[in-house]
Amino acid sequence: MAPHHALRCCKRALNWVPVLFINLVVGWSYYAYVVELCVYTIPNNAERISYLVIFHIFLMMFVWSYWKTIGSKPAGPSKAFCLPRAEKELYEREERAEMQQEVLKKVARNLPVYTCTAGGAIRYCDQCQLIKPDRCHHCSTCEMCVLKMDHHCPWVNNCVGFSNYKYFVLFLTYASLYCIVICATVIQYFIKFWTKQLADTHAKFHILFLFFVAALFFISIVSLLSYHLWLVGKNRTTIEAFRAPVFTNGPDKNGFSLGLSRNMAEVFGDQAKYWMLPVFSSQGDGHSFVTRLVHIDPEQANSVLQQNEVCISPDCFISDGVPIVSVTMENDP
Ligand SMILES: [Zn+2]
Ligand SMILES: [Zn+2]
Repeated sequence: MAPHHALRCCKRALNWVPVLFINLVVGWSYYAYVVELCVYTIPNNAERISYLVIFHIFLMMFVWSYWKTIGSKPAGPSKAFCLPRAEKELYEREERAEMQQEVLKKVARNLPVYTCTAGGAIRYCDQCQLIKPDRCHHCSTCEMCVLKMDHHCPWVNNCVGFSNYKYFVLFLTYASLYCIVICATVIQYFIKFWTKQLADTHAKFHILFLFFVAALFFISIVSLLSYHLWLVGKNRTTIEAFRAPVFTNGPDKNGFSLGLSRNMAEVFGDQAKYWMLPVFSSQGDGHSFVTRLVHIDPEQANSVLQQNEVCISPDCFISDGVPIVSVTMENDP
């Protein structure tokens, strides 16, 4: 085996260490809760059964969304974003950056691409050799361009992006609820052990520790969850929160925001029955996104919208009093 190949395998194996850690903690919490708390400590049968039922429901939802986040392959751009053979050869032959941009511009005319680099150039990935769709970024860990990339998360050893962002938010939600269920049901026994109302048994260590670990995890997870719910409400990815996407008229951190309810629907879908389930229900294909109409004269927008009774096309909306259209409809050749 070539040394660089062995090194790569080693790195890949090491990437699973945080996932293994989470699974060990969850495995131990299961033992501590079910065996040490419910079997050995709780004297009452009705209480024991109700705790076990609630605990298993939240555990199942948590594990389901966690493994969906881990197991969803990051979605990459379609072949339409790769340079056609002739243009690719031209691009590679050309040494002048301006001429390379001309080649890219020619190809990008036929694509729904509305964001550019800070310098106004077409966003091109040299590693993947493709024009990056809006909100797509190259992940150096996954070694690919990822659609609507949010961040690469070591705790799930996967890229969080278009294909699994909903699962990721649900994973944080159910992880927080799992910790709350543990804390809320364990606290009375925690106090009893702490104040010596219950005898010192081997369960004492597990139950005291279980409460501390669940409370600690809850504090860290809930702060991350609040941040991501705020991002969903604003229709921003973590990357965009740090660096606003650049449109033809300049950077606009709210460029993709369509108002709270539509922003939520973009991630969770428009059917309420799927919102809390880790099944795919996000809107769109991850390649193009509806954006705010930033460059229209308000008078002109109003007259167009009135003529067409609010909606000019299925991709046009009024949100928070701001007229918006789909950029995919606006690509002038
Ligand atoms: Zn790439
Ligand atoms: Zn990645």
